[in-house]
Amino acid sequence: MFAIAIHGGAGTLSRAGTSADQEAAYLQGLESALDAGYSLLHEGGSSLDAVTAAVVSLEDNPLFNAGRGAVLSRDGLAELDASIMDGATLAAGAVCGLRHIRNPITLARRVMDRSPHVMLVGEGAEDFARNQGVELVSNEYFRTDIRQRQLHRLLQGAAEKENDLLAHGPASGIDAGMGTVGAVALDARGNVAAATSTGGMTGKRWGRVGDSPIIGAGTYASNGGCAVSATGHGEYFIRAVVAHDISAQMQYAKLTLAESVKNTLARMKALGGNGGVVAIAPDGEIVLDFNSEGMFRGVRSSGGRREVSIYR
Ligand code: ASP
Repeated sequence: MFAIAIHGGAGTLSRAGTSADQEAAYLQGLESALDAGYSLLHEGGSSLDAVTAAVVSLEDNPLFNAGRGAVLSRDGLAELDASIMDGATLAAGAVCGLRHIRNPITLARRVMDRSPHVMLVGEGAEDFARNQGVELVSNEYFRTDIRQRQLHRLLQGAAEKENDLLAHGPASGIDAGMGTVGAVALDARGNVAAATSTGGMTGKRWGRVGDSPIIGAGTYASNGGCAVSATGHGEYFIRAVVAHDISAQMQYAKLTLAESVKNTLARMKALGGNGGVVAIAPDGEIVLDFNSEGMFRGVRSSGGRREVSIYR
């Protein structure tokens, strides 16, 4: 048995405000990312390589809030965060506040594979990238018209919106300022892995970092529990330590993956948080769940399951 599940962000996705063409483009993007990861698993590749390939595909797609097409900070810059974890060894790598790395997830992978550290930040992380021979790109590479318009709209209503933003997070989804991409996979050797990459939230400042690059919050993987990648209002996912909480319930309380996800999302919702997760266990159980209106998501398994969807 091998399988991969992915997400492309969660939030207030309004069917009414979305054209059929837009919807088709998102679904196509999800399909391509699923295929990129699944074909590696099919050839006997590792779950780690599969989640990396799926996330790279979503980072390269300007529709999703990661890599090219990431949301913009208050200063109009893309500032990118990513993390990855290997369920077999509990090795992990994470990067935050990147401004010049085309594929943040591959740098997170290098931190895991080629440094003695787990998390590198900002200029230091980019120095490490140079040292590794990774190509740097200008910040403009990430910037798209849609993201500029979103930032502009947010800044127009500045004071009022800012209070709202701090209290509730931005409205999200197809036409707003949130989202993240992520993947979890199980390979034929029984190993799970998780990866997550994001531009964070539109209009962020002061070096704000959400849950996505935090191991245990936005990303976690353990063969003793499960692999999880999260998306949603990061402040709440950090406080509820979402990804590790799900894995720990499986490992210590012997709950199923579905039960663990349900419990954790309920606790996070009680705090006031919105969003969802994709998760996979070594026994092949797969869960794609969210407490928001929708979540871009997809799953493909050797058992013949193959689907992509947006709404509930
Ligand atoms: N979790 C991301 C963050 O808070 C945003 C998202 O997933 O929509 O940075």
